[in-house]
Amino acid sequence: VLTILLGAAAASGLTTLILFLVEATSILLPADTKFGIVFDAGSSHTSLFVYKWPADKENNTGVVSQALACQAEGSGISSYTSDPALAGESLRGCLEEALALIPEAQHRETPTFLGATAGMRLLSSEEQLSGRAHLSLEVARVLSQSSVDFLRRLALVGLDEGAFAWITINYVLGSLLQYTFSGEWARPPEATLVGALDMGGASTQMSFVPGGPILDASTKASFILYGSSYSVYSHSYLCFGRDEVLNRLLARLVQGSHSGLARHPCYHSGYRATVPLAPLFESPCVHTSMPPGAAQNLTVEGAGNPGACVSAIRELFNFSSCEGQADCTFDGVYQPLLQGRFYAFSNFYYTFHFLNLTSGQTLDTVNATVWEFCQRPWKLVEVSYPEHTSWLRDYCASGLYILTLLLEGYGFSEETWPSIEFRRQAGGTDIGWTLGYMLNLTNMIPAKAPAMKQAENY
Ligand code: AMP
Repeated sequence: VLTILLGAAAASGLTTLILFLVEATSILLPADTKFGIVFDAGSSHTSLFVYKWPADKENNTGVVSQALACQAEGSGISSYTSDPALAGESLRGCLEEALALIPEAQHRETPTFLGATAGMRLLSSEEQLSGRAHLSLEVARVLSQSSVDFLRRLALVGLDEGAFAWITINYVLGSLLQYTFSGEWARPPEATLVGALDMGGASTQMSFVPGGPILDASTKASFILYGSSYSVYSHSYLCFGRDEVLNRLLARLVQGSHSGLARHPCYHSGYRATVPLAPLFESPCVHTSMPPGAAQNLTVEGAGNPGACVSAIRELFNFSSCEGQADCTFDGVYQPLLQGRFYAFSNFYYTFHFLNLTSGQTLDTVNATVWEFCQRPWKLVEVSYPEHTSWLRDYCASGLYILTLLLEGYGFSEETWPSIEFRRQAGGTDIGWTLGYMLNLTNMIPAKAPAMKQAENY
């Protein structure tokens, strides 16, 4: 076809047309698609993400999109220290799903990564470290046996977890690079950068670009993306993830109960359950031990009292360590003045989505909705949500915890509240650290990304 066109065009002297047609012909050819796989080994579960991008546009902003999200069976890999083989096996199902999607001829060249987060960071005692090494080997065995190009497994440090989520959001929103009207690629004005609020089961991360300097170097992630440098403030609060906060709350109640029976202010009135106590005190975030003489099981009754629930949640924070300091949140952690818009995802999203609070409701409405939900009797809650999930009991506590963290911890106010958007996805891609992590490890963004100096093979 090209020869005929070239001949015809040359005969009529249409050289510009030839160039245009050659251009157009190459544009119309289907671009080869490349794939990458990332496992997010979280504290409570593992997810797998497959990303895809046109091979010929590898270094363009915003071209990587999500092709698959898969939830692995079972719990987080850090819970398999006593039976590491199961950790590897739990990844197989999602891996097979991913491989079914990627053309077989490309399996060998599909970069595959696994990043473990706070659940793994919490396994730090000597005995736990040996369990962690076994886990690592088992995971590597399963992934290396598969046909993909398994490249790295890392335990992410908190700073990287926050910084990569920040890169993911700003990459998919196209905030790192824009095509200008004058026909050039340029960095859009800083005002369009969006901060990241992440909450997993074991830790929670806060990341944003402040208006001024970052005074505590341990909270600063510096990198260069597409030739522009960024200094992102990021901090990961270990033991402030949703599941660990719930554990810590319950452990406090147990300390105050001597009869094997406790009233939980954050559970709905009429709720009653018997829970085994030993696993609670095994959590590395619970620093007290089981009270001497305590029964093996505790019966918990809901009190449905949001005021008392907030008071109990406040006790998990050390606010006094920041008293009188404007740039301090709690537990002595530095945070510069809040700046710009934020996307709140993971547990922030799950909880607010369940409560129907993701459409920009005012702070007053949010407060009223959460309090009303907490005061609803358990019987009513159960019938209102027949698709009863294992999380149902805890949405009240997690709603009030999120409000305490955002308002009293991070310092959002009625005025800055509208700057937070509760979201699961941006541009069809789930928000989290995984995409930023893959872009960095595959050198796909011309970047000096977070150095991951401190990240360790686990
Ligand atoms: P991680 O495993 O560390 O990424 O944490 C995931 C967190 O999300 C855990 O606290 C889970 O309990 C929680 N989670 C996942 N899906 C939901 C949901 N639909 N509703 C409430 N919490 C959820």
